[in-house]
Amino acid sequence: MAVQLLSRNEILQKYTNLDQKGNIIAEYIWIDAFGATRSKARRLVTAGAKWRCPPPANGVIVAVERITSFSSDVILCAQLILGSTLKEQEWTPENLPIWNFDGSSTGQAPGENSDVYLRPVAVFPDPIRLAPNIIVLTECWDHDGTPNKFNYRHECAKLMDAHAAYEPWFGLEQEYTLLDMSNRPYGWPVNGFPAPQGEYYCGVGTGKVVQRDIVEAHYKACLYAGVKISGINAEVMPAQWEFQVGPCDGIEMGDHLWIARFLLDRVSEEFGAKVSVHPKPIPGDWNGAGLHSNFSTKEMRVEGGMKHIEAAIKKLEGRHMEHIAVYGEDNDKRLTGRHETGAIDTFTWGVANRGASIRIPREVGVKGYGYFEDRRPASNADPYRITGIIMETVFGAVSE
Ligand code: ADP
Ligand code: MN
Ligand code: MN
Ligand code: MN
Ligand code: MN
Repeated sequence: MAVQLLSRNEILQKYTNLDQKGNIIAEYIWIDAFGATRSKARRLVTAGAKWRCPPPANGVIVAVERITSFSSDVILCAQLILGSTLKEQEWTPENLPIWNFDGSSTGQAPGENSDVYLRPVAVFPDPIRLAPNIIVLTECWDHDGTPNKFNYRHECAKLMDAHAAYEPWFGLEQEYTLLDMSNRPYGWPVNGFPAPQGEYYCGVGTGKVVQRDIVEAHYKACLYAGVKISGINAEVMPAQWEFQVGPCDGIEMGDHLWIARFLLDRVSEEFGAKVSVHPKPIPGDWNGAGLHSNFSTKEMRVEGGMKHIEAAIKKLEGRHMEHIAVYGEDNDKRLTGRHETGAIDTFTWGVANRGASIRIPREVGVKGYGYFEDRRPASNADPYRITGIIMETVFGAVSE
């Protein structure tokens, strides 16, 4: 008689539904040297937990303003004794422990001095493990108290802070391609190519789009996490999709986009699909992938805003190559002046022009105020570097 096994999903559900006994799992996320997210999980102790607590150092309980200990257990137990118990919605970057990882395994530190610290900067509900578990976005810091070489958030946050009075808003359009295990875009024949582009953009129906379940799952996961995802659409090249995040205020833009990228990789992993953010995944007559960056300030968003938009574009023109330098790797393969792009070595702008470096949306041109779109960034660019250099160019560098 054949043994009746539970399905893999049924088995997983048994464990997913187990009581966590008051513990919270925090998934700490950081960005590595290659522009990908990494993550690892740790337990946080809360009031309901029955774990043995090591005694606080020196037997003295100090009021905990900002937790900087590497042992969250000690500090949180101190808080319990003090009577200030933490509930899930009270997790903030300030009351989460700093952690560390082996930077020599991620290209972020030499082997002989490999510890890199993870400093929490933003907290999100975890759509994978569900409440009360959380996702913690962190910045990477070296042992000497300086930001890690690949910590682009730190400089970006300084610029956002210095120029906060302009109330900068960003909205980023992340394009990506879903690949199978042999790195072939889904739905593409093993030998040869699909029918030429034309029917796929915002396509509906079999033969026009693939893997919509991943896109939908990711959309919901972002909403659960509180990521300001504003939409999704199928793209011009088959197996290519886009999601938009924004408008976001200042530093929130990079934070939310990185969490959205993490969730896309995480969700796609469950479906056995790979996510490519390469700006030109297939050479030839196929659209590349970008990270269009929409931008506005308080002054641009009200009547008379167009003169502020044009002034900003003038400044961007003067630093075109500096921007290109931080707008992603292999962007020269994408910014050819064809396939809805401007050429990499020339700066152009225009109303409703998708072949320009900067596009002013038609509606903005008609109203005379609103925002503009920087179409240059590649899909693999770092949103902290994009939003940071836009602030620097438009409003000036920050002195130390
Ligand atoms: P496209 O026509 O270029 O494909 P999308 O609809 O995909 O445009 O994306 C437009 C983006 O512009 C969205 O991410 C949205 O959040 C952003 N956006 C809208 N208004 C503003 C604004 N005032 N400032 C900054 N970004 C904005
Ligand atoms: Mn180990
Ligand atoms: Mn778009
Ligand atoms: Mn697009
Ligand atoms: Mn766009």
